[in-house]
Amino acid sequence: MRQVHICEVGPRDGLQNAKHLMSTEAKKAWISALAAAGLREIEVGSFVPPKLIPAMADTGEVVRHSLTIPGLKVVALAPNLKGFQRAVEAGAHKVTFPVSASRKHSESNVRMTPEQMVEEVRRCAQVGGAEIEGAVSTAFGCTMQGAVPEDDVVRIAVSLAQFCDAVALADTVGYANPAQVKRIFSRVQKEIGGKLEGAHFHNTRGLGLANALAAYEVGVRNFDSSMGGLGGCPFAPGASGNVITEDLVFMFESMGASTGIDLERLFEARAILTEAIPQEPIYGHTPQAGLPKGFRAAA
Ligand SMILES: [Zn+2]
Repeated sequence: MRQVHICEVGPRDGLQNAKHLMSTEAKKAWISALAAAGLREIEVGSFVPPKLIPAMADTGEVVRHSLTIPGLKVVALAPNLKGFQRAVEAGAHKVTFPVSASRKHSESNVRMTPEQMVEEVRRCAQVGGAEIEGAVSTAFGCTMQGAVPEDDVVRIAVSLAQFCDAVALADTVGYANPAQVKRIFSRVQKEIGGKLEGAHFHNTRGLGLANALAAYEVGVRNFDSSMGGLGGCPFAPGASGNVITEDLVFMFESMGASTGIDLERLFEARAILTEAIPQEPIYGHTPQAGLPKGFRAAA
């Protein structure tokens, strides 16, 4: 039985921030290989204006391919109602909306205040057609605003929980530390209980795994991660991106918490990624060192 649920966000968060474009065919092959390794949920793209983010221009086609993979929950990101409608039209099972807790980040990213963005997500929920996740982004700090008041994070999470199927907290820029993770997740859990599902961490300062473990220790069981830590961080040149799927799976499996993901097959999916965009920096301790002698996955 899966005790930890991992959503691979490399094809979206990773490729959206990568320097090199991946072909549509390679994306499809990579997503199929990720699913074959045991990933049951993949964020495959983003319905944003193609002119703004060319790497996501083929998201409709990638969603349609992903829908042919049996048992896979196909997730797409949308920043507004228009993106949501495109996601529903393409058939995405779940749509994630980033709602920034930082006023400055929200205004520069989506040209809306956090409150206006909450209302935009509410409109999408009223339209319906897909599962909706509200992800509170910059929940642990912001490159533009600096500190983000915890009360703001809690307030936005509570508003989103009124109409979203699930709420997640995201460390968009890699500012979080484990003590803060435990404190904020616990506070939000107290307010919205089981609606708080996901944790989205970046490895910008090397604390991705530590933060994931801290969240696990306060009861979080749903994590986003990206193969090879793909993507980097637009605000920190040279930094790695999301918490690394391979290392996250290794951590949980070696602790005895089953992820349902086969590490050897995960390494095969990694080979597809590195072949498709060989110049892109790819991270990961476990794939470089190999599995320890006698390693056994969690039962
Ligand atoms: Zn991210």
